[in-house]
Amino acid sequence: MSYQHQYIDGTRIHFPLGKVVCIGRNYAEHAKELDNPVPSEPLLFIKPGSCVVPLEGGFSIPVDRGAVHYEAEIAVLIGKPLSRTPNQEEVLDAISGFAPALDLTLRDVQARLKEKGYPWEVAKAFDGACVLAPFVPGSAIEDLTDIGIRLSINGEVRQDGNSRDMLNPILPMIQHICGHFSLQPGDVLLTGTPVGVGPLSQGDELVLELVGHSRFVSRVL
Ligand code: ZN
Repeated sequence: MSYQHQYIDGTRIHFPLGKVVCIGRNYAEHAKELDNPVPSEPLLFIKPGSCVVPLEGGFSIPVDRGAVHYEAEIAVLIGKPLSRTPNQEEVLDAISGFAPALDLTLRDVQARLKEKGYPWEVAKAFDGACVLAPFVPGSAIEDLTDIGIRLSINGEVRQDGNSRDMLNPILPMIQHICGHFSLQPGDVLLTGTPVGVGPLSQGDELVLELVGHSRFVSRVL
């Protein structure tokens, strides 16, 4: 299914889908569960727009490349150009929305790449690797350091995190990212996953929530 940014009321957001800038190991407990050291500066990678699919209606996962892990993350939609050294007010003003998202990861493939010190793209950027829900408007969330993200699978809560536990909070994270990559309207940030990642299987029923703001039911097709 083709993807188009939209708000939870169904309104289309007329920004082109851009890149998806991701941060790895942004919650200490998650870094620990995969035996990863906590990086001294934000660990960034990019998923291309071509890998984004909508959450609603269900989504597919690769079946022949080992374990496919879910990583529930808070997604931030950028609505104004940002580059170099924006101040926090400029960053805040550029945020158009928030949504829950899944950073799907071919974990076995990623483990082999990590071992060799190679880039992660084939484990992180495959078609369907970024599953995005509709956004709540940026103005709907006042405190960016208190956003809950929760994922339940087949009725069981697997991830239940809050942005207060991020090693790099959202606004300074975006400022840091702008020092490396310009952001354009339609770009999305995935802000890292809390503890509790694990494999997905065909037929899994998912409930993905931005706690108190939006809630979506979906499934692995
Ligand atoms: Zn992730």
